[in-house]
Amino acid sequence: MNTQEVIAQFNQYVIGNYGRLPRVITRGEGNYLYDLDGNKILDFFPGWAVSGIGHCHPKVVEAIRKQAGELLHIDNTFYTLQQGKLAQLLSERAFGGKCFFCNSGAEANEAAMKLARRHTPKEKYKYITAQHSFHGRTFGAVTATGQPKYHEGFMPLMAGFEYVPFNDIDALTKVFTDEVCGVLIEPIQGEGGVNEATPEYMQTIRDLCDEHGAMMILDEVQTGMGRTGRWFGYQHYDIVPDIITMAKTLGGGVAIGAMMARPEIAATLTPGTHASTFGGNPLACAAGIATIEAIEQEKLIDNANRMGQYAVEKLTQLKQKFSVIHGLRGKGLMIGIELTSPGADIVSKCLEKGLRINCTQGNILRFMPSMTITKEQIDQAIGILRDVLESEA
Ligand SMILES: *Cc1c(COP(=O)(O)O)cnc(C)c1O
Repeated sequence: MNTQEVIAQFNQYVIGNYGRLPRVITRGEGNYLYDLDGNKILDFFPGWAVSGIGHCHPKVVEAIRKQAGELLHIDNTFYTLQQGKLAQLLSERAFGGKCFFCNSGAEANEAAMKLARRHTPKEKYKYITAQHSFHGRTFGAVTATGQPKYHEGFMPLMAGFEYVPFNDIDALTKVFTDEVCGVLIEPIQGEGGVNEATPEYMQTIRDLCDEHGAMMILDEVQTGMGRTGRWFGYQHYDIVPDIITMAKTLGGGVAIGAMMARPEIAATLTPGTHASTFGGNPLACAAGIATIEAIEQEKLIDNANRMGQYAVEKLTQLKQKFSVIHGLRGKGLMIGIELTSPGADIVSKCLEKGLRINCTQGNILRFMPSMTITKEQIDQAIGILRDVLESEA
């Protein structure tokens, strides 16, 4: 089949709920993608941040191959070596919490919201989330998402949500009542445009949650697993959350999600209170273990810090040259480039020249390469972006 035939097949048989780029991807290796027409693409937004240690990392591939020959799936009626080990590895890298495993970011957030409800007194049913947040597409997660465009056509949503402007301490304080069971927030908003929470904001959330007996839940689905230059985004701040959720890079490319809660809070989820059939299956957990081992053995968090800094230096030089670049923000390898005009055209022109980047909120380009990215690859990406900006000017 050729590219046009595959697209025709999609048009006939696959629901059209995504705006897709007209490429058929057949292979991924490290920071490169290959399409059906033989094009090689430098990937600076690998798998929407899922392939955070590059495509088909050899250690992950090997772990999956080995696990596939031993046990693919077993239900949570039993114990497995892989689920316990992955939970321990995560606990040791966060705040000593306990894990519940599921299959996606949205599911991890659902688990967190259910836990906050169940763990707090009955009259506490409200959640506070931020405007421009993104928490997933299931009904609860999309309700938590503070962007009206994702709510259109789905009313009425789940009850009890208050959306506050991000980083606005007064607005947060005003809506915080004793009816609130949880605050759900991203340490750095991803899809919302790479917006970093200020230290004062994080501290206020912590204080207000303590004062009102609510859960501080951090959505680390995108910021987790080293991308920001620490294992988790919250580790840039002087607070410890009650619950974090993760997914994306956690499985190195395999679908897995997790919620981690402080042990005394986690204890609320007794047998029968929550579950996931596929959650924590040995295949996904083996991939997760291999991902953590690869990150550590190859010092990828270090690399995320160094390469993030290098990319920002290079982008700062571009900013001086092109007035369309209004500002740069983010941490580690989670970089947002704010433009003074829409970025969709730049994204397609970059792809034509062999670079894949992303644009969110209309005018924020996202530069989020894998943590295995090299200086040479950043130079290559910057070169392509410069060419495209020059052709636009
Ligand atoms: C991607 C994302 C989600 C949703 O994850 P899915 O796996 O698509 O359900 C939730 N929160 C954040 C911050 C994300 O970036």
